[in-house]
Amino acid sequence: MNPVFADLQTSVFETMSRLAREHGAINLGQGFPDDPGPADIRARGAEALVEGFNQYPPMMGLPALREAVAAHYARHQGLDLDPATEVMVTSGATEALAGALLALIEPGDEVVLFAPLYDAYLPLVRRAGGVPRIVTLRPPAFGLDAASLAVAFGPRTRVVLLNNPLNPSATMFSRADLEMLAGFCRRHDAVAICDEVWEHVVFDGRAHIPLITLPGMRERTVKIGSAGKIFSLTGWKVGFVMAAPPLMRVLAKAHQYLTFTTPPNLQEAVAYGLSKDDAYFAGMRRDFARSRDRLADGLQGLGLTVLPSAATYFLNLDVAPLGVADDAAFCETLVRRHGVAAIPVSAFYAEDPVRNLVRLCFAKSDATIDAALDRLSHLA
Ligand code: PMP
Ligand code: GLN
Repeated sequence: MNPVFADLQTSVFETMSRLAREHGAINLGQGFPDDPGPADIRARGAEALVEGFNQYPPMMGLPALREAVAAHYARHQGLDLDPATEVMVTSGATEALAGALLALIEPGDEVVLFAPLYDAYLPLVRRAGGVPRIVTLRPPAFGLDAASLAVAFGPRTRVVLLNNPLNPSATMFSRADLEMLAGFCRRHDAVAICDEVWEHVVFDGRAHIPLITLPGMRERTVKIGSAGKIFSLTGWKVGFVMAAPPLMRVLAKAHQYLTFTTPPNLQEAVAYGLSKDDAYFAGMRRDFARSRDRLADGLQGLGLTVLPSAATYFLNLDVAPLGVADDAAFCETLVRRHGVAAIPVSAFYAEDPVRNLVRLCFAKSDATIDAALDRLSHLA
């Protein structure tokens, strides 16, 4: 057995969802909305299944979806992507990440990562033979600094893996941070894998800045998106990879031996969804921002301390004022005794973790948020 995987614990998301089921807790842990998702997109997926979208689609994805992806990113982010050579459909962002890391890393290559880290990153980098060089980001800004980047980058740096907007901090990197990172990538001739699954779930008029649009990054960035997040259909696992043709050719080789294709009825439905007008995306952001405010205001009303949330489905509770020194133990108590599941932010760190933050998912109905607030009312 390979020790990278043999030595791993079960993912914190799965563990917390299981504990939530066992204890009848309200699950604000794993990030998924309790809304069923857009009815017309689900209907298109069901129709396509009956119509006959059931055999292997093309390996790179249905042409209709690749064209819809290129048109979508041209409209929303000003990207100029050739659907025939620069867009590939994957089975979720997770497959895209695994494929990109397997395809781009040679054993011994150094990979710059940023903690808090999405849980799949480190095992995949290690299994691909990469040597992780982790830059630790701290609350409340979770920003970059030149000195830490200078320590992490070196002559063996091959890949940089960035998540922006960042889960679990609910922050977005500033243009200055992204420009600084792009400078390091150019100077070290590194490829950036940019996990932008949260790109549409951004609030208060903020604009997402795709790393691929920065000077010198068009040819050296692998951009990853997910329909699961764009349409709040997290179980669908339809992802997109965008990259210049020389990178895409090798990414496609990894994809062809990982999953080869992605269910065609879901691809057809996502192609339909991507053509939705701006009002849909504005409405989605407005609805999530309203839920964010309902949870944040409610928690503050209980005397609890909440960090700002600029993006994602999450906000973070600062448990230091409650005298809590161990976020993981606190989350255990929360789910067992108070009946609310949450995610300890320390689970996203490999070393020297932040231990005073607890991530809560606000992508829930008003009734669920209110019921959770009721259960948390004795905390402060
Ligand atoms: N990257 C990040 C940062 C995520 O938060 C998630 C899931 N929410 C994923 C990747 C996985 O996306 P998918 O479900 O499309 O595989
Ligand atoms: N991305 C989701 C989260 O951060 C969960 C994904 C998973 O369960 N692996 O909660």
